Amino acid sequence: MSATMARAPVERLKKTVPVPYTKYLPDFLARNVGHWADRKFHGAGIVEHISDTGDHVFTVKIGGPSNIRFSTETLRKFAKIADAFGSHALRFTRSGSIEIFTESLAAAQKVQREAEAMGFFVGGWGHTLWSIQSCTSYLTCTTAVVDAPSLVQVLYNHLAPYFTGKIPLPAKLRINVGGCPTSCGGLVSDIVLTGHYGAAPDFDQDRVRMCLPMRAEVLGKVTPEVQMVCPVNAIKSFPKPDGSVGVEIIAKKCIGCGRCKDVCDHVVWDPAKIGVSVLIGGKSSNTGVGPTLARVLVPWIPAQAPDYRETVAVVRKIIDVWRADAESGERIADWVNRVGMKRVFEQLKVPLGRWNRPGELNTGFGVRQFLPR
Ligand code: SF4
Ligand code: SF4
Repeated sequence: MSATMARAPVERLKKTVPVPYTKYLPDFLARNVGHWADRKFHGAGIVEHISDTGDHVFTVKIGGPSNIRFSTETLRKFAKIADAFGSHALRFTRSGSIEIFTESLAAAQKVQREAEAMGFFVGGWGHTLWSIQSCTSYLTCTTAVVDAPSLVQVLYNHLAPYFTGKIPLPAKLRINVGGCPTSCGGLVSDIVLTGHYGAAPDFDQDRVRMCLPMRAEVLGKVTPEVQMVCPVNAIKSFPKPDGSVGVEIIAKKCIGCGRCKDVCDHVVWDPAKIGVSVLIGGKSSNTGVGPTLARVLVPWIPAQAPDYRETVAVVRKIIDVWRADAESGERIADWVNRVGMKRVFEQLKVPLGRWNRPGELNTGFGVRQFLPR
């Protein structure tokens, strides 16, 4: 190999890593890099960025669809709006909002009207509900028990006035929704919803035997993978009378984490038990008490697609109680830390018991008092 050939990959990497991101910015943003001096909000969905170059740039924040799923036609419509009224540029936030940049407040307001005419909401800044984060669930994931994007859509339908700022909130509100206990959306949000299997799974005994060791003598030297992944030792393998290997789940030890389902297609769940866990008080900000994980409030309620009425009722109740009791600027985590989890549970009329601790599961437990009577 010649010296030139050996150097080629290194030269190529030098040109592309790190990516010179300013090269891809529109001119009006590129010339202001490092010059931003101030900002000003115009309602819950338009922010004005003030540069010491004398430029003023306006960002319009539009709530995107659940799990950032756009048709190409919708993307083309937003690109046309950015071309007609904006600065020929847009971006997507981590939570799926679309941001379109303009060079005047009047143009930003036109973008807002166009987005609203398409049925999208503009908002999600300051003391509002920020874009709800959703995992992908069934579209690309094998362990989903609840379709997080459809639950998020239902939540948006009910909570839109909090997103647009029409109904004020004490502070920023973040909601994450995950389709299963893996909770890919993360546990550092004010309210976290995760799909929950609601009961210990079982094995499809006819099929699983094909994935187990052929002969019982190897047990002790070989452990089936599906047994190894269980974090609470709830899966047991054993010799069967015919010399083959059997496997079973000890239901009272199972915490419904779904790890066995990750590695085995022959783990089956009772669809009637599928539900949602509700956690509160997560926050990734490092102010005040620092980052905190959300804690289990309601371990299980039925998922009830397509309207998810009990889940929506719980979320609405949490927001109502927080709005009535929190001080200005106090996020749910700060409120919980100030008043104590016991008082939060009392105000929400949720019994505080062993099932409200993470890692425990009672399939008979449900908190159903949130629905209007
Ligand atoms: S939270 Fe569960 S369902 Fe959603 S992407 Fe992660 S593993 Fe899949
Ligand atoms: S769901 Fe989790 S705890 Fe239950 S058997 Fe499977 S791996 Fe074990």
